[in-house]
Amino acid sequence: MPRLRFLVRGVVQGVGFRPEVYRLALEAGLCGTVWNHAEGVTIEAQGPADALARFEQALRESMPLPARVEAVAAEAIPEVPAEVDFRILPSGPGGEGRAVVPPDLAVCPACAAEVATPGERRHRYPFTNCTRCGPRYTLIERLPYDRPHTAMKGFPLCPDCEREYRDPLDRRFHAQPVACPTCGPHLTLRSPAGTVLAEREEALQTAATALVEGAVVALKGLGGYQLLVDATSSEAVGRLRERKRREEKPLAVMFPDRASLELDCELSLAEAAWLEAPEAPILLLRRRAGGAVAPGVAPGNPRLGAFLPTTPLHRLLLGAVGRPLVCTSGNLSDEPMAYEDAEARARLGGLADLLLVHNRPIVRPVDDSVLRIDGDGPTLLRRARGFAPLAVPLALGGPCVLALGAHQKNTVALLKGGELIMSQHLGDLASLEGAGVQERTVTDLLDFFGARPERIACDLHPDYASTRLAEGLAKAWGVPLTRVQHHHAHGAACAAEHGLKGPVLALAWDGTGLGADGTLWGGEALRIDGAAFSRIGHLKPFPLPGGEVAAREPRRAACGLLWATQGPGEAPPSLAGAFSAGDWARFQTMATRGVNSPLTSSVGRLFDAVAALSGLRAKRGFEGQAAMTLEFAAGEQGEGTYPWDLQDGVADPAPLVAAVLADVAAGQPAGVIAARFHGALAELALAWAKRAGLPDVVLSGGCFQNARLTALVQATLGAAGFRVHRPRRFPANDGCISLGQAAVAAATPIGR
Ligand SMILES: [Zn+2]
Ligand SMILES: [Zn+2]
Repeated sequence: MPRLRFLVRGVVQGVGFRPEVYRLALEAGLCGTVWNHAEGVTIEAQGPADALARFEQALRESMPLPARVEAVAAEAIPEVPAEVDFRILPSGPGGEGRAVVPPDLAVCPACAAEVATPGERRHRYPFTNCTRCGPRYTLIERLPYDRPHTAMKGFPLCPDCEREYRDPLDRRFHAQPVACPTCGPHLTLRSPAGTVLAEREEALQTAATALVEGAVVALKGLGGYQLLVDATSSEAVGRLRERKRREEKPLAVMFPDRASLELDCELSLAEAAWLEAPEAPILLLRRRAGGAVAPGVAPGNPRLGAFLPTTPLHRLLLGAVGRPLVCTSGNLSDEPMAYEDAEARARLGGLADLLLVHNRPIVRPVDDSVLRIDGDGPTLLRRARGFAPLAVPLALGGPCVLALGAHQKNTVALLKGGELIMSQHLGDLASLEGAGVQERTVTDLLDFFGARPERIACDLHPDYASTRLAEGLAKAWGVPLTRVQHHHAHGAACAAEHGLKGPVLALAWDGTGLGADGTLWGGEALRIDGAAFSRIGHLKPFPLPGGEVAAREPRRAACGLLWATQGPGEAPPSLAGAFSAGDWARFQTMATRGVNSPLTSSVGRLFDAVAALSGLRAKRGFEGQAAMTLEFAAGEQGEGTYPWDLQDGVADPAPLVAAVLADVAAGQPAGVIAARFHGALAELALAWAKRAGLPDVVLSGGCFQNARLTALVQATLGAAGFRVHRPRRFPANDGCISLGQAAVAAATPIGR
């Protein structure tokens, strides 16, 4: 009998891969063995040649999600004549040290069907899961990944679950969070004061009725508390916004099923695949006119953050409500998401009318991921549930590095053995809660991946919580600390993602980050070569009267930009209404005297200024809103551009500002101005690319979340022969900073 040995690589551990191989082998009448090890999974299979061929084809082509087979290597080996059965062997060396902390995955079709079928043991059971789906990262306390080390330790298996857990032919073989109505967690409905109002099915039905009637319900979900309201009710949405102090920022919507989602959103084939993928991110989809979702959910936005129920609990609740629900993180604006019960009651009691909770602890907070499909592929905007903490192989050698990331949209990254392990999106670190979550996340990653960092990396900014944590750890461990300039990190992140080794031009355009010269950078063209960078181009700096405050008020950026490019003077008519008497003069004086008016070269602030000058938005409700308003206004307005005064790579926007003012005075629609402004930025990108003269250009920074800008820069540079690389698997925004810091620190020669 022939015998083959297969080495299978990809996402093949902790996803029910070995039981599936076992089933396939039994079906094909093969004997042999299967085991996990550091490289992946090895299978030895022996039997008739045609059965082996069918088995190999199934391995390559039809392993069920969430397993992802990337490579199968096969070789013939000598027959083992005495073998009579197929066995799952204990893991080999390293087998339980690598891919053993799997991400949380959306409910699989088999579990969903079980929950929906009357007579099944788990009919309508909200905590149903198996090896292919359910919570993992959110419930693992420590390794090895066995039930006593998880949030399920307080739920001993009943005999029925125990039998499934021990049976290699069952899809719950070694599924650590396995549970059923007899032995697992259950639902409780509480009042904001904590009174128990109902339990189990009655709790779910009462919450559903309240949602239909317009209540705000806090739901203890998979990775944290979420706030839910009826997405079709303007009144309910308004109530949520008022309580959450989130006036205009778009809210995500969970739809009961794909059919109801398609009434509100357009769905391409690629989008549909992501919608139903185990990672189940929130997708930014194009809205259809006349859908059921209230306009206040995403005012003025042509896209809607939409997703399907990710757990049986969400499926049952959405099914009972029978309409789309706003589903947003349980927090006040900018605070981290609540995930512990006592903390959630304290923080969300005032926001929610009811709390639908359960008794399975959430070990760590994991938010929903956000993804957008552009013309040429997917882009992750927030990397969390379904992705973290999957290790991503990157061509980065060198020492083990821990990188602490940025101040906003923080993530933490660990570089070890050529793999990058990025934490889930942690959010802003300004609050004590945020800083605490970051510290616990560092401990988690080091424990789970058995890492002893030889270097630490952080931002240049001395006052960030992440910088202070990095300094403390470097001192405690006696390892070097590498401080990485913010935009250097942005460029290095995109270069690392695409495996670019040589020097590249990085266009790093964002809000602001501390520059090497002490000013606020954000419109940078950097030549990056490993640990070194040089600034080959940037916007000519302009003052931001009020500093930090200016970041929330586009009119201040406009005032500072006019002061710098036109000299001190009166407010133009399009801006006059945005300033109360005295404000304009006060801001101009601040700029003239240099009082609390830091200089910036930020493209993000230039977007703010142009949005204000064109009359689109003088004050913004949330970060990036002014830029989004310009992007959406540009819509289908065609092309066009504005001039720059470029000298030695320094781009003076004075001619651009003059042209914008002339267009405003001539009554050009804001959309035309917006389209020309995008065109001007693409021209600037091209000028800088020619100046750098490097074939590879990487794009990074929050401005490249703008789909129009990104596509235009890509097309313009591509037509001129440059290879343009954009962030894909990691965000363009500050979520990628930890990756860039790790890449720079790994490339930094020892002693620096
Ligand atoms: Zn399942
Ligand atoms: Zn059970």
